[in-house]
Amino acid sequence: MKVPFLDLKRLNLDMESELTAAFQRVLHSGHYLLGEEGQRFENELALHEGVDHCVAVGSGLDALTLMLEATGIGAGDEVIVPSHTFIATWLAVSRLGARPVPVEPRPNTYNLDPHLIEDAITSRTVAIMPVHLYGQPAEMDRIGQIAERRGLAVLADAAQAVGARYLGQPLGTWAEASALSFYPGKNLGALGDGGAVITNDGQLAERLRSLRNYGSRAKYVHDEAGVNSRLDELQAAILREKLTRLSQATARRQEIAKRYLEGLGGLELALPEVAVGAEHVWHLFVVRSEDRDGLMGHLSTSGVQCLIHYPIPPHMQGAYRDAMVGPQPIAEMIAGSVVSLPMGPHLTDSQVDYVLEAIRDFTRR
Ligand SMILES: *Cc1c(COP(=O)(O)O)cnc(C)c1O
Repeated sequence: MKVPFLDLKRLNLDMESELTAAFQRVLHSGHYLLGEEGQRFENELALHEGVDHCVAVGSGLDALTLMLEATGIGAGDEVIVPSHTFIATWLAVSRLGARPVPVEPRPNTYNLDPHLIEDAITSRTVAIMPVHLYGQPAEMDRIGQIAERRGLAVLADAAQAVGARYLGQPLGTWAEASALSFYPGKNLGALGDGGAVITNDGQLAERLRSLRNYGSRAKYVHDEAGVNSRLDELQAAILREKLTRLSQATARRQEIAKRYLEGLGGLELALPEVAVGAEHVWHLFVVRSEDRDGLMGHLSTSGVQCLIHYPIPPHMQGAYRDAMVGPQPIAEMIAGSVVSLPMGPHLTDSQVDYVLEAIRDFTRR
C-alpha cells in the first residue's frame, strides 16, 4: 500500500466541477482583481471565523507582514515569537526592521509556553506573536493576560489553524488580528498563493485595505507607501468553493487524529497533546521519536510518506546568521526528533490503519 503525506491533486479533482465553474465565473465576469468574488470571499471567511473583518492579500507571509505594519510595528521594535515555528513568522518581523525575540514552546503541545514570555519582554517589546502551530490554538487566555498587563498587542500567526477555536470562542477573537495562509497545502488551500488578515478592528482593516493596494484608498491617491498584495478573483472564487467543504474536511482530520492517538498509545513515541480548551484542527499530526531516522526509513520502505516540520529552527538558519540569537534548546530538540505522519481528508481508514501497523512494526523490532 502507498500512503501519500497529502494528495492535493485528488482533493482538488474531487471538486473539479465546482472549481471549473468558479473559473468560468471569473473568466466571464471580466473582473480579475478586487472584485465581487474577493469581497464575497472576505465576507464568507469573516463569518466562518467569527470576526467582523477579513482583508485578503497575496500570501500568508504578506498577511503577517502587513498585519504587523498596519499596527505600527517598525524599526527598533521587538516582537515575541516562538523559537519553534515556520520561518515566515520571524521573517515578517524582520522585514519591518523589527527584531524577533524567541520564546521556547512546550514540548508536548509545540506551542509558546506562557511561563517563559515575561522574561523575554524588554522596554522595546511591542507585541506578542503566538503561532497556532500544527493547527492547535496557543494558550490565548494566558497570553492575553500577560499582554494586557504589559501593554502589548497580541497578533497571531494562524496560518495553520483556520477554523480552530479556543475555550469555545473562534480563534480570531483572541487576538487584535490574526494572519491566515491559503498556501495549497494548508487546511484551506488555494491553487496558488493567498492569505488574509482577520480582525474585529475596523480601522485596522481599513489600513490593511490601503496597504495591500499601493497605499491607496481612492484611485491614484496614495496616502502612504503601500505594496501590491491582492488576492486575485480567481483564487477568491476557488477558495469560496473550498470554504463550503472546510468544516467537513476538518472533522475528517479530527477523526484521523483520534485514530492515530488511540492506535499509538503505549509505544515509544511522544504523541501530540491537546491543551485544555483547545480545539485542534490538525493541519499536521506530529510525533517525536528518539530514532527518527530509523522510523522514517522504515515508514518510507513501507510506502508511507512522512515529512519533518521543521528540520532547522529559524535561529539556526542562514537568514539569522548575524542576528546573534542564543541557543534555543527546546526548539533544537524538537527539530531533531519530530516526524509528521500523513494527514488530510485524502486518507481512508485503511490507510491510517496501515500507517499504525507500520509504526507498531517498527517499535517491535
Ligand atoms: C504557511 C505558513 C506561513 C506563510 O504562509 P505563505 O502563504 O506560505 O506565505 C506562515 N506561518 C506559518 C506558521 C505557516 O505555516
